[in-house]
Amino acid sequence: QKQQAAKPESQGGAGWQGSSNVVKQVQQQNKNREQRQQRQKELRKDKELHKRMHQNNPNWEFLAMIREYRDSMEFHPLQESDPVEDHAITVCVRKRPLNMKEVDRNEPDVISVLSKNHIVVHEPKLSVYLTKFLENQHFIFDYAFDESCSNDLVYKYTAKPLVQTVFKGGVATCFAYGQTGSGKTHTMGGNFLGKTQNFQKGIYAMVGEDIFRYCTSPEYNALNLTVSASFYEIYNGEVFDLLAKRTKLRILEDDKQQVQIMGLTERAVNSVDELLQVIQHGTRTRTSGKTAANASSSRSHAVLQIVVRAPSIKNIHGKFSLIDLAGNETAGDMSSANRQRRLEGAEINKSLLALKECIRALGRKGAHLPFRGSKLTHILRDSFIGVNSKTCMIVMISPSMKSCEYSLNTLRYADHVKEHRSIYKQ
Ligand code: ADP
Ligand code: MG
Repeated sequence: QKQQAAKPESQGGAGWQGSSNVVKQVQQQNKNREQRQQRQKELRKDKELHKRMHQNNPNWEFLAMIREYRDSMEFHPLQESDPVEDHAITVCVRKRPLNMKEVDRNEPDVISVLSKNHIVVHEPKLSVYLTKFLENQHFIFDYAFDESCSNDLVYKYTAKPLVQTVFKGGVATCFAYGQTGSGKTHTMGGNFLGKTQNFQKGIYAMVGEDIFRYCTSPEYNALNLTVSASFYEIYNGEVFDLLAKRTKLRILEDDKQQVQIMGLTERAVNSVDELLQVIQHGTRTRTSGKTAANASSSRSHAVLQIVVRAPSIKNIHGKFSLIDLAGNETAGDMSSANRQRRLEGAEINKSLLALKECIRALGRKGAHLPFRGSKLTHILRDSFIGVNSKTCMIVMISPSMKSCEYSLNTLRYADHVKEHRSIYKQ
């Protein structure tokens, strides 16, 4: 470096000026080195401090590595002013915050949301020499919501843009996908205040609010559109009416391959409040009772269907389906000694795989649509056909180290649903 710095002097011949430049440069270099050394000393001290603070935590090394990674990165989270993009298929990811229990256990948070569409999983690994290291796995989606995002913000970029689809005579569908406990019901049904759920703050209710707003808007007021809602559960390939005490319903297919759920309750709703009552009633039915089917709502798909009709024609004007999917960890539940659980797991697996293929087919117009692959996709067939179908999938992940493997599975699934600008590793 010194030689390089001296070069201009021998070439330029501006004797004393050149040598004073060299002196300045050397001084600057010395200063830089001192600063660097100082910083390294501080970092070592910081690391030592961190070690002492967390040495009772078996994961303190991973914690330190994740912290170091974060310190070296610039974060540019989604801003409310960021534009809402128009896609036929939107796939995004939402990271929930660590909960109290995880914080108390000192669980490392292994997820970093770097920007409005870029997420990194810091996967803890052990080398063959038993040294710990992180494998940082990167994923790109349409949006990435970090732990500070509210349901309102998530709604703005996911389901809200699809309300327009319903009024243009189309079918809109919104899925919540992820592991049990990752925040699907929180996002769709509304956030929890202790044990009670605030239904007003969920995507179900927010969609309802916008639907009623559209109905009375100058553009659509004259059409006298009416709104109604159904709420049902698909469990083990069978349909149960959540608005009729979980009555089991039959599914029939007519000659046009249209699937009918026989006797499904369809409640007329005239206001957001009335819709909220339907949501509340259905949700309570889903999580109450002691039959095998609702012992755990994580093993069923819940479907809220909001239908908009014009009085002059019997046909549906538009439809919005909102689906709180079964926990994806239950899909591979083959280790269970319980035969019933294994069958349920196989059925869930089948439906989630069929769902992935159907959304992919929607993305490639004219592709074979394998909707017969499961009851879920069979019933939602409308969502995957037609020029007017729009879908969004919100993929939820838990940030804890314990959930890392599940989170990676979830993100890989989502990456297949819509091929984004590929996963890359660093
Ligand atoms: P799932 O339906 O996927 O099983 P839940 O929606 O029931 O998960 O969420 C599990 C717990 O985590 C709930 O207590 C919920 O309040 C909490 N939770 C989920 N997502 C968030 C979030 N984004 N912010 C705060 N708490 C959340
Ligand atoms: Mg749930």
